[in-house]
Amino acid sequence: MRLVVVGCSGSFAGPDSPASSYLVQVPGTDSPDGREWNLLLDMGNGALGALQGILDPRRLDAIGLSHLHPDHFVDVCGLYVYLKYHPDRLAAASGTAAVAQAATDGSVVQDAAATLPVWGPSNTAERIGATYGLEAGESLGSQFDFRAWVPGQVVTVGPLEIEPFRVYHPVEAYGVRVTGPSSLVPGERVTLAYTGDTDFCDGVVELARDADLLLAEAAFHEGRDDAVDRGIHLTGRRAGEVATAAGAKRLVLTHLPAWNDKQAARDEATAVYDGPVDLAATGRVFTL
Ligand SMILES: [Zn+2]
Ligand SMILES: [Zn+2]
Repeated sequence: MRLVVVGCSGSFAGPDSPASSYLVQVPGTDSPDGREWNLLLDMGNGALGALQGILDPRRLDAIGLSHLHPDHFVDVCGLYVYLKYHPDRLAAASGTAAVAQAATDGSVVQDAAATLPVWGPSNTAERIGATYGLEAGESLGSQFDFRAWVPGQVVTVGPLEIEPFRVYHPVEAYGVRVTGPSSLVPGERVTLAYTGDTDFCDGVVELARDADLLLAEAAFHEGRDDAVDRGIHLTGRRAGEVATAAGAKRLVLTHLPAWNDKQAARDEATAVYDGPVDLAATGRVFTL
């Protein structure tokens, strides 16, 4: 499987990246059923635009939302419009076109009548509905099937298994551990751990345990942000400490706000973690 960085700017969209959004893809060549699978983790400001440069959003199989801060979910509102009013889906719904097509790469363009599963915190449907501003009688349920994360309960999307972990942030927030087929070693399964937004806590270490790739937020800097309350964000150093404590095999830092010094975040991490440390960038692909 591979991780495609759609957006990685922390807390708000930046000049060179949308806010948080990550595509986890299992290419058809690695999938037991020969079909490509596409799971989107988070969908912050600007993500829908960048996503369209990667794939048709109708080819998404599921979305997982870490929490309901706008920089992680707000473009689900745009996706609702994209799915509901896409001309091909309207034509399909009226019976004037085929309802489902297999794309050339084996992924599936969703049936016009299908709903897209969206996992998230317990109040996800209400929050997104309020943000969108639903009209009387309108329901996001026409496009989305909202489901609540339950810690310890694994959910399945094709060949991917996704386990949510509660993490340490001011709102109900989850990190997710995604296990699926390796694209590097045929027959093996590999694990990607994504922290969402969190400070150091037992949950994030457990989430990252022995992960092949830990995608960790590092919104804060040591020193500069020491006066801010704990329980909000990791620093580069604390992300490195999570990776070391968990035995993660590699670390990718993300959720860096526009005002951060990216190399300083990386230096903080490498001071406390011996494995490889990379910086997320929109469009960057990591193969596991
Ligand atoms: Zn955030
Ligand atoms: Zn947040």
